[in-house]
Amino acid sequence: MQRFPIPKTVRLSGRRVRLVVEKSAVLNRDTMGLHSPWNGTITLDSALAPDQQKATAVHEILHDLDTLVGTGLSEKDVTALASVLFAAIRDNPALMKWLMG
Ligand SMILES: [Zn+2]
Repeated sequence: MQRFPIPKTVRLSGRRVRLVVEKSAVLNRDTMGLHSPWNGTITLDSALAPDQQKATAVHEILHDLDTLVGTGLSEKDVTALASVLFAAIRDNPALMKWLMG
């Protein structure tokens, strides 16, 4: 049981992006999530453990933002940055509260 429900949408640079959890035919062992910036959707594999879904959401959000601002990050870049960003968020609840305050 997750402590908090997965939000139905996230706000990314002023855009409302839907977070969809499903077992999709396009998701497989190597693809745990997808982002579709043109229709404003991030899809997470329903088969993932809760922490994997969260890490995948951060990963797909970085892809979405990368596409939006045109930084041209590689898959390797996004994977590395998402991993350390997710860890920084999880390891710093006081920072998150401060940023939100
Ligand atoms: Zn990726």
